[in-house]
Formats: sequence, structure tokens, C-alpha cells
Amino acid sequence: MSTRSLSLTDDIYRYVLEHSVREPAVLARLRELTSGMPNAEMQISPEQGQFMAMLIRLTGARRCIELGTYTGYSSLVMALALPEDGRLIACDISDEWTGIARRFWREAGVESRIELRLQPALKTLDELLASEGPGKFDFAFIDADKPNYIRYYEKLLQLVRRGGLIAADNTLFVAGATIVGASSGLARSLREFNDYVHRDERVELVLVPIGEGLTLLRIR
Ligand code: CA
Repeated sequence: MSTRSLSLTDDIYRYVLEHSVREPAVLARLRELTSGMPNAEMQISPEQGQFMAMLIRLTGARRCIELGTYTGYSSLVMALALPEDGRLIACDISDEWTGIARRFWREAGVESRIELRLQPALKTLDELLASEGPGKFDFAFIDADKPNYIRYYEKLLQLVRRGGLIAADNTLFVAGATIVGASSGLARSLREFNDYVHRDERVELVLVPIGEGLTLLRIR
């Protein structure tokens, strides 16, 4: 029994993977393909993907937004977890990386559930607010440029309905250093975001130590 979260040794992490992950073949192929590419660390881990799929099913989410698509692993996870008439707006600025994503969305048969918007995500969020109005989304995943996290969060607080969920990735920033000690601009941005949401009474939150840290924010 324990009063704090466990540190994951390599052995325990392997055990977690072996005893929980059921990665669909199409996701495994995408992971494999992406692992040899530049910025492969931007791809979420399989257990985090499975956790997000469960969150989407648990919350009954039908309309989702993703900020930062890269080669498509998290968008594919989310689209596969959505009902047939579910929709995901995927935001990115790279035609090259999302070209891989589109190929796998087709292969998995979920391309009709995903709408890719290739432009700065803040612009897309403003357009969605204008076209859809506030509170029309159920779930949002923030995984784009870290200095804009607070701006993304503020827009999503308007776009996601009450009781809906915003999930922000990499909030423990463990790449090369821990969130506590790291001095890079990226770590600083993430610390600012973490301080900001912790003080924000508009949401309930949990910082889940999965992957590189995933903060769940439920809108009150
Ligand atoms: Ca990430």
C-alpha cells in the first residue's frame, strides 16, 4: 500500500505494457513507422493512447479537437474511440507529417470522422468559436507548441462544454530533465501553464503521471 504514486522502473513499465496495452494493429504500424522519424518523441505512448481512448468512451465524447497532430497517432486513437457519427477537428501546420496521418486514417477507415485544418491552431479555434459558438465540443487534447498552451486553454474553455474535458500533454516535461529543475524555454512554458491551471477555479484537475505527464481539466 502506498500514499504516493509509484516511480516506474524499466521492469514495472514493461509489466504495465505487457499487462494492459492492447494496441490495434493499425496503431502499432503507425508507431513503428513514426519511431524512425525526426521528432518521434512527439508521438504519445501506447498506454497513454489507450488511456485517452477510455476517457473518450467514458465521457461519451462525440465532438473533439486536437491541437498538434504530427503523424497522427493520438488523432487515430481518438477517432477509433469515437462513435460512428463522432467528429474530430485535427489542427496542425505541417502538410508533410499530417500526410502520414491522413494515410493511416484512411487505412483505419476513420477518415470521415476527422477534419484536418492546416493553419495555426489559434486561428482555427477562433474560426470554430465563430462558426459553432461556445460549448459545442466534449473533449480537447492540447499537444501543440508549448508557449501557446495557456492561449489554447483559454480558447478551449469557451469551445468545450461544461462537464467536458481538456487534456494537456507533456506537463511533466521529463525530456533530459525534470519539470522542477529544467531551465529550458519549453519547461518554463509548461511550468507557467501548470501554475496557471492549478490556480484556475473554473476547472477541476488531475495531473496524471502517464507518458510525459497528462493534465486532465474538467470544466465546472
Ligand atoms: Ca506530446
